[in-house]
Amino acid sequence: MKETKYIFVTGGVTSSLGKGIIAASLGKLLQARGFKVTNQKLDPYINIDPGTLNPYEHGECYVTVDGHEADLDLGHYERFLNSPTRRANNITTGRIYQNVINKERRGDYLGKTVQIIPHITDEIKRNIKLLGSKGEFDFVITEIGGTVGDIESLPYIESVRQLRWELGKNCLIVHLTYVPYLAAAKELKTKPTQHSVKALQEQGVQADILVLRTEHDISIDMRKKVALFCNVETSAVMQSIDVPTIYRVPLNMQKEKLDEVVLTKMGFDLAKTPEADMVKWIEFVEKLENAKEEVHIGVVGKYVQLPDAYKSIIESLIHASAYNNKKLKLELILSDKLNDENVEKKLHKLDGIIVAPGFGQRGMEGKFAALKYAREKDIPCLGICMGMQTMTIEFARNVLGLADANSTEIDPNTKNNVVDIMDEQKNILDLGGSMRLGAYKCKLKKGSKVYDIYKKENISERHRHRYEFNNTYKEDFEKAGMMCTGLNEESNLVEIIELKSNKWYIGVQFHPEYSSTVVNPHPLFISFMKAAIENQTSSSHKNQEQTVKI
Ligand code: GLN
Repeated sequence: MKETKYIFVTGGVTSSLGKGIIAASLGKLLQARGFKVTNQKLDPYINIDPGTLNPYEHGECYVTVDGHEADLDLGHYERFLNSPTRRANNITTGRIYQNVINKERRGDYLGKTVQIIPHITDEIKRNIKLLGSKGEFDFVITEIGGTVGDIESLPYIESVRQLRWELGKNCLIVHLTYVPYLAAAKELKTKPTQHSVKALQEQGVQADILVLRTEHDISIDMRKKVALFCNVETSAVMQSIDVPTIYRVPLNMQKEKLDEVVLTKMGFDLAKTPEADMVKWIEFVEKLENAKEEVHIGVVGKYVQLPDAYKSIIESLIHASAYNNKKLKLELILSDKLNDENVEKKLHKLDGIIVAPGFGQRGMEGKFAALKYAREKDIPCLGICMGMQTMTIEFARNVLGLADANSTEIDPNTKNNVVDIMDEQKNILDLGGSMRLGAYKCKLKKGSKVYDIYKKENISERHRHRYEFNNTYKEDFEKAGMMCTGLNEESNLVEIIELKSNKWYIGVQFHPEYSSTVVNPHPLFISFMKAAIENQTSSSHKNQEQTVKI
């Protein structure tokens, strides 16, 4: 079995420096050299997983194929590496403690006093090494959440120290810091970097490579200075300069020779490892950067104040617009503020509309207003999860004439007073806890629009929801033109609906956004974007006609 190498990415000075993007970029570069790589995130908070975190606080909750509610950085890893992550790729302090406490209760520690060192650190190390234990990967790249110096991250840094000691050359530490630019002095400052490297040293960890986030180029002299102060070779001090798109970062890090330095330090003979093949990646980035004409897409949702809450949807739209040679003009529209009176004013400029996922009642009525508008004006519209659910309810209310149509999610107590278009499916949930999570099979109806889009009959997509379409209404829906074109046959669940009468009006109970990657953009988003672009040309045509008439 081959030896797995472990790389750690830590961060200093401030949070939000983009450790996830640096970790994913390094993963991409090593993968593009032919290595098998996986990225892991260790989160120092006490929640067992991010499933219960408010999207306003922590951004989107990402879902892996095996049904783990995960940190949004796993989305970056998948989008960059085009390979699935799993439960083991994201560990929180909560889970580490839960495992240790469960072991203690079982008596596994044989009467020993259970302590942070060695029991918590052993559990952390076990979770890191687990990914490498099957010989599946050449590299496991583990990102440590938080900032060096935080109380929360101490046990993680201590585990890194121990692993560096145990694994020697098979372990490497990349530390990401920030070099601020003082506008008044017109100077870049390295002092915070020196301090953060020192903080790491105080915990017994010497960084092997420093990546300096910066808004201006860092000179060779400054790199030498950082190298001298921080016990790092000058060639291992590199910059990560601000870029308009995160997808430039791997290419910039390649220029900085991040992959080469990593491989050299880990004992590889560079002459025997081919250079990273980034051809497809570059093609995508060039398309993205060169696109001039805009396509105007609106995302209607209730967490729009924090765009990270819709991270994967936004990235999927970026992929789809670039592959369609258009520049994405994105508008995030707060559904709480939408109603039948103002909807035209707020949405009329859009070429396509996404109705976003979400939980609970707030903002739901605004989604109905957006959907009614999109349906009646035949604007390309994709409803995702709650978005699909609201599509069915809007249709039931305004087309089938079921004025009380609703989801039982809205108010379980009034369950008997509403026409429950969306209902909790206890039989399925009992099998898997409180939500349907992870990848489920779906069969597409031949002749449908989605069949045409996916070009195959059997697909598998990721879910994260509790409510399901109520099959009692299926026949009425189909008679009136809302077709159920994707089904989970095992549990008889409606996964996709599409409107026969419209050019592009599709609702999916699953989350296609989780599986759109740079080299493999999601077909639903590609097709939705095409429809939006076509709508743009047809509506500008309409405008011209109108202008002539006037
Ligand atoms: N609120 C819905 C449900 O639980 C949808 C959730 C979502 O959009 N992710 O079924």
